[in-house]
Amino acid sequence: MRSTPASYIDAHSGDLIARLQQLVGIATVNPPGHSYATITSYLVHELQSVGLKARRIPIPAAKAKKVLPPEQHDKPRFNVLGTLKARGATKTIHFNAHYDVVPVSGTWRHGSPFSGAVGGGWIYGRGTADMKGSIASLLLALQALKATKTTPKLNVEVSFTADEETDSLLGAGWLVENAPIKPDYAIVMEGGEGDEICCGHNGVVWLEVTVHGRAAHGSTPEKGVNALEKMSALVLALEEYKAKLAKQTFTTPDNKVMRPTMNVGGVFASGEGGKINTVPALARFSIDRRVLAIETVDQAEADLRSFLAAAAKKIPQCKITVAKFSDNHPCYNAPEGSFFAAVAGSLGRVRRRQPVFSVSTGFNDMHFFSHHLKIPTLGYGPGGEDIHGINERAKLSELTRAAKTYADLLTTFAG
Ligand SMILES: [Zn+2]
Repeated sequence: MRSTPASYIDAHSGDLIARLQQLVGIATVNPPGHSYATITSYLVHELQSVGLKARRIPIPAAKAKKVLPPEQHDKPRFNVLGTLKARGATKTIHFNAHYDVVPVSGTWRHGSPFSGAVGGGWIYGRGTADMKGSIASLLLALQALKATKTTPKLNVEVSFTADEETDSLLGAGWLVENAPIKPDYAIVMEGGEGDEICCGHNGVVWLEVTVHGRAAHGSTPEKGVNALEKMSALVLALEEYKAKLAKQTFTTPDNKVMRPTMNVGGVFASGEGGKINTVPALARFSIDRRVLAIETVDQAEADLRSFLAAAAKKIPQCKITVAKFSDNHPCYNAPEGSFFAAVAGSLGRVRRRQPVFSVSTGFNDMHFFSHHLKIPTLGYGPGGEDIHGINERAKLSELTRAAKTYADLLTTFAG
């Protein structure tokens, strides 16, 4: 009897572990972006070995120079693209994972954070959970289809992308705008795990508010305008804005109530020349505004800016300028339609439980596919524990379950 993809996956979990150990061993720490050339050539090779056409797409040096800080100009960026045309398929699904990892610190239970040590049903190491485990799960799913001569019902695109741990601009952000892809559906293989399928994530806007005063000698403060005092009044006024945000709610499909939040002054500073005997001429603070999955960054920013302008106007001689230093788009895909039902069906068959649709507070690369390509996009992968922490690990049983879920979806859903 020919084995099914699921039984093949059970019999070959050792291949998954070996690949994940290889991936973890290539320490793609970002920043600054180590070993990208090594891992992407390995990934191209692995995609080819499981039956895909695959290649590495280098980011043009001129483009990289514009985006990266000077100390990273000697660290080239690459994305990997694999494709599989399936006989009879009319629709295409895209699987995405980032291959970079955050830096390590501390003492790890099993020695090096790049060893991929196995113990107690877990595999340990930086990137096991975020998100090289997802890559290993998908590769085993594709290997299982090839080995069992099972034709997927969808054409398959796979991308392994750079720089998610910084800003994704040369990774998924570059891919959706420049690579020859044309998916109808996308799965970013993180954000949802276990019984939870991620159908959206929050976003963020980071602003910097500068209050401009006028310097004077500390013995004659009445001759100056104290920027710190003006800033204090402005920060107090923001309490009203926080109260307004707290009233704004979004109930997720799994009945969690989410609210936008704001953190003020994660960074604050006086200008140059700040001295105890000088009236401060400048005061500056940051605002970290978390944006709900159903909001937009533009709307949130415009609303906050107009509140700040109005609040500053009410404070005598309070002159401000507001600059944005970063944002990250939220996204939300109402979990309706055949794709969401199919993924829920596959997950239900593999786990024998009814999955739920959730919204993640942290962001991932889903919004690039959801916003830019405007296709149904969800997040699901094997996940793990202590992501970004010491003893980051992925559960072996979840790695194989994720592989089975991807394989099940590819053999049951035609789009
Ligand atoms: Zn990640």
